[in-house]
Amino acid sequence: MLQIPGPTNVPDRVLRAIDAPTIDHRGPDFAELGLEVLEGLRTVCRTDGQIVVYPASGTGAWEAALVNTLSPGDKVIACETGHFATLWRAMAARLGLEVVWLEGDWRHGADPERIADALDDDVRAVMVVHNETSTGVTSRIADVRAALGDHDALLLVDTISSLASIDYRHDEWGVDVTVAGSQKGLMLPAGLSFNAVSEKALEAAKAARMPRSYWDWAPIIAANANGYWPYTSATNLLYGLREALQILLREEGLEHVFARHARHAAATRAAVAGWGLEVLALDERELSNSLTAVVCGGSDEVRRVILERFDMSLGAGLGRLADEVFRIGHLGDFNDLMLAGTLSGVQMGLKLAGHDVGDGVGAALELLAA
Ligand SMILES: *Cc1c(COP(=O)(O)O)cnc(C)c1O
Repeated sequence: MLQIPGPTNVPDRVLRAIDAPTIDHRGPDFAELGLEVLEGLRTVCRTDGQIVVYPASGTGAWEAALVNTLSPGDKVIACETGHFATLWRAMAARLGLEVVWLEGDWRHGADPERIADALDDDVRAVMVVHNETSTGVTSRIADVRAALGDHDALLLVDTISSLASIDYRHDEWGVDVTVAGSQKGLMLPAGLSFNAVSEKALEAAKAARMPRSYWDWAPIIAANANGYWPYTSATNLLYGLREALQILLREEGLEHVFARHARHAAATRAAVAGWGLEVLALDERELSNSLTAVVCGGSDEVRRVILERFDMSLGAGLGRLADEVFRIGHLGDFNDLMLAGTLSGVQMGLKLAGHDVGDGVGAALELLAA
């Protein structure tokens, strides 16, 4: 049982799609594949704009978002929602950006009002993690955009653990660069990452002076027009992506995917309440649908017992939350009985590790059966 919030379970169908002969990445069959997955990703990101795909983990797409749009010394605002926001900020600082760091308590999302207060004429971009995977808190991106008003800062959003799990709208919400990865909601192995890019971000890229080569959007977008990439593609992962998009867009449908994640998150929270524990997220509007972080001192021992006895991996507390929370991933290829099994394993493990918890599973089953 792999219940960490990414990488997620890869459906057998997707694995079988990957298990196919590699084709010539300059040949005609490849172009068809390339164009099809780019179109599918546009639909998932809800954009009519450009999509850029990298053979890289999500961290690569973080770097791409920064180096394509900014110049050394540019001022950016970053919001401390948790561990991943902290890592992205550190990357921005290493790249030579001047980062205004809006500190947070790791229990809330990005605060639109504080972002508005921190804006001045020099700010060139605002960096927000949509779903903070270390805390199970989802920031309200549309409200963040509204807080920017008519300021011309770019809005850069990390959707690595929300895309294709939680409602997200690149165009409608006025996002300039969306950052995403393959191994969470998209149900693939790690190894592909993405940027969705607005017209405004493309304009900014023309003037941006950050050194860039591998991550440069321009040659990729030029080659993509015909379905190709400027370098060797991760062809077999693209086969998997085509299959995953088929499941998400044409079979289950994105709205149903979002509703399933919301249901599983609600059932998980019912279990947490039934155990007598609390979730880390404090604001009702910011509860994550893709994972739940449970406040539990000594969580490493609970995870150790669960792994040893039931062969289930749960997410650890990251950074300053080490040993203070455990995280249940309920995103990607996941169904009611997988959740019931997951929660049962957690409940048994909590008891075995000496925590006196109530019957959270019962509460979750009521909700799942309703
Ligand atoms: C997983 C994750 C990352 C890191 O992505 P990698 O694929 O491990 O490089 C960044 N941000 C968020 C929100 C994530 O969940």
